[in-house]
Amino acid sequence: MSTRSLQRIIQSVATADGAGVKLRRSLGSSQHARLDPFLMLDEFYSDNPDDYIAGFPSHPHRGFETVTYMLDGRMQHKDHLGNTGDLGPGSVQWMTAGRGVIHSEMPRQTEGRMRGFQLWLNLPPAEKMKPAGYRDIPASAIPELVFDGGRVRVIAGALRLNGQRVSGPVNGPESSLSTEPVFWDLHLDPARQVTLPLPNEHNAFVYLYEGQASIGGEILLHRAAGVLGEGDRLNLVSGSDGARLLVLAGKPINEPVVQYGPFVMNTREEIEQALEDYRQGRLTEPA
Ligand code: FE
Repeated sequence: MSTRSLQRIIQSVATADGAGVKLRRSLGSSQHARLDPFLMLDEFYSDNPDDYIAGFPSHPHRGFETVTYMLDGRMQHKDHLGNTGDLGPGSVQWMTAGRGVIHSEMPRQTEGRMRGFQLWLNLPPAEKMKPAGYRDIPASAIPELVFDGGRVRVIAGALRLNGQRVSGPVNGPESSLSTEPVFWDLHLDPARQVTLPLPNEHNAFVYLYEGQASIGGEILLHRAAGVLGEGDRLNLVSGSDGARLLVLAGKPINEPVVQYGPFVMNTREEIEQALEDYRQGRLTEPA
């Protein structure tokens, strides 16, 4: 048994994506700011419609999975498969781009707060060209584990704590992903602590998005990714305002990553193929 320490901080930078949606990017802000199998983590948070109203009009993806987690506000997803999904507070959209997806993600509101996250999770080489898949997970389908001092929403992976065991709707018994992702949203009351088990062989990081917290006496930066060292558990202590953070872990793929915008493959040739397929309108066609 060993406790994971805080090993590295990846600060978030202010940037814009889509048609001008303002966001903060921690993982993915540079090639060196990744944590296998995670490619990118964006946080969008604004009360000003000018920051989000333009949305993410039609665009492609190939070679990985996108996970959108909404805290506040509404977005609508539409894709080439004919799926339409409305994302509301507390809900998740888990999309496997695989061989190719062309979709749009547009706000369903003209005022008020828009807040949430988009995570990019890589696929192993053998799965990059698999058929596209898409899941809408309503807030009510995400279980919550309550403990003395806080609660955890379990989006992916299973959590065992104080004799309770909660399995998330993703990577649970009926849908297993080869990176075995863990995606938890943890809320800690003021000045409390919790020890969460995390699979030893996973790479893991936390993202503090509200309040204050520390790991092994090291203070986490607000809106930054805190990359964890090895171990089979994580001990977190919250500050005087409590803390809200994402806990993310996944099995590393250990293969080269070549990214060009929304295409993430293993070689340059595969990227060129993706661009060629996209130009010729074949990105989403079955192999
Ligand atoms: Fe997208």
